[in-house]
Amino acid sequence: MDVQFCECGGIFEPIGKGRVRCRSCGKEMIMHMGEKITTQAKKEEVIVIEDTKPDRLPTTMKVCPKCGHKVAYWWLIQTRSSDEPPTQFFRCENEKCKHTWREYK
Ligand SMILES: [Zn+2]
Ligand SMILES: [Zn+2]
Repeated sequence: MDVQFCECGGIFEPIGKGRVRCRSCGKEMIMHMGEKITTQAKKEEVIVIEDTKPDRLPTTMKVCPKCGHKVAYWWLIQTRSSDEPPTQFFRCENEKCKHTWREYK
């Protein structure tokens, strides 16, 4: 902790319970502990793919980057604020592949 100086130029010393007292003039004050500013951890975008029913999704002509299948299911997810464009997701129609990827508009 940084050494705190009193208005009189004396050094504050801790006297317990978060209080400090000036060695020179005896002035007491409450020591403010350095508050930790906790920046909220950016939440990871949770993409629940397993719950998405593929048979309800529309398909489009899209080449799967993994297996080369030419048809993929697609859907849009609004990830952040509504003034940002939604992210387009694709999932390979090939049941053996089911590769899922995203595309930013
Ligand atoms: Zn003082
Ligand atoms: Zn595929």
